[in-house]
Amino acid sequence: MIPIYSAEKYKELFLKRKMRSRLDNDILQTAKQVIDDIRTDGDEALKRYVKKFDGEVPVAWRVEEQERQQAWETVSEEVVASLRAAADNIKSFHKKQLQNTRFMDMTEDIMSGQLYRAIERAGIYVPGGTASYPSTVLMNAIPAVLAGVKQVIMVTPARNGETISPVLSVAADIAGVDSIYKIGGIQAIAALAYGTESIPPVDKIVGPGNAYVAAAKSLVFGDVGIDMIAGPSEVCIIADETADPAFVAADMIAQAEHDKASKAVLFTTSHSLAETTSAQIKQQCTSLPRREIAEASLSENGAIVLVDDLDEAFTLANRLAPEHLEIQTAAPLQLLGKVQNAGSVFLGSYTPEALGDYYAGPNHVLPTAGTARFSSGLSVDDFIKKTTFLYYSEKALQTASAHVCNVAETEELEGHSRAVKQRAGKRGGSGKNE
Ligand code: NAD
Repeated sequence: MIPIYSAEKYKELFLKRKMRSRLDNDILQTAKQVIDDIRTDGDEALKRYVKKFDGEVPVAWRVEEQERQQAWETVSEEVVASLRAAADNIKSFHKKQLQNTRFMDMTEDIMSGQLYRAIERAGIYVPGGTASYPSTVLMNAIPAVLAGVKQVIMVTPARNGETISPVLSVAADIAGVDSIYKIGGIQAIAALAYGTESIPPVDKIVGPGNAYVAAAKSLVFGDVGIDMIAGPSEVCIIADETADPAFVAADMIAQAEHDKASKAVLFTTSHSLAETTSAQIKQQCTSLPRREIAEASLSENGAIVLVDDLDEAFTLANRLAPEHLEIQTAAPLQLLGKVQNAGSVFLGSYTPEALGDYYAGPNHVLPTAGTARFSSGLSVDDFIKKTTFLYYSEKALQTASAHVCNVAETEELEGHSRAVKQRAGKRGGSGKNE
């Protein structure tokens, strides 16, 4: 079911970028129309599009306090305890990312540094079309709350046009979400970006979603911040002959069951592991509730690739820049330094990606489709702005003035030069940094 390739064949496919996905033009066009209409007509357009794409329009957009309290009665104690344990780990991990305002220079005459300020309003998209993801509530909201965001506003599509899944509401309470709106898809992104009569605008929108959500986020970027354009989920596993094929297969299936467009790729030095993993995948899929999705994903987008050595595996993995990278080899920690491009790394046979998805602490909102070459997973930093500041005394400006004026005049911006000369009295300074 899953193809086994040589490294050469895989490179050929990879170089043609068959393994990557891009935003779809038809979806972008739909998203543009919806966004333009909601921007112009507010709630009226919002209702029209919710009816069109989701069927039922909720009577009220906001999840009221009473609904949030009632949600606690329907979620089991075990699930609440597990969500709290996960939240504790996520908080502990993300707390260590916090930074304070810092000074770069601090002398009597010159002071400079960076002010750290949280964005004021963050919008958190929690997918809800085909499943509910309480883990995504925690992963998105906890870093925002820790960063000091004043208002954390969550959106998620309503079920049957009326309520949201109670477990999402409970997770939102655990994470510290201020308000929840029952809306999803392009409509939710447009409402968060521009505001409507019922939904307040935010400064930044974060969180994963389907292709419609991703397209909408790409179009509102610039008017608001976004975290990233998330595509279908991916796992890349690097394994040698010491890996357990049952574990490798299970992790590839865990990725593939997300979505038919998900990708699971194994790079292995072992011919025997390639064969047994393929057989394990076939066998383990037979009893999987989401078998159809997983099998389609593995046969269309999955790959087992035979490599000559681990160096070749890392070269290919770094070019793929996967969202998740698992290293199941004899000495995984020693190989961490070979990772150049990946969203998140899972070391050893007993660190399945699912551990990170739900519990351990690092964020599960990660760059996909090769974007780990230039971007990172969600963190406290996504909710922080850094404002630089500068102070020069009269003496320090006098010393620097010749350099400033030289550059300003080279750029033919005489006004800039004069702004310095006015203060320096005359073209002072030595022309050298003193
Ligand atoms: P979703 O909330 O992203 O999208 C549902 C919305 O899509 C609907 O409310 C509807 O308005 C809109 N929509 C559906 N069909 C449409 C159409 N034809 N035209 C216009 N709008 C349309 O939920 P989903 O669909 O279940 O997708 C969730 C995605 O998020 C999956 O791909 C899943 O793998 C991903 N996900 C990723 C992470 C992560 O952290 N990386 C976590 C959870 C989920």
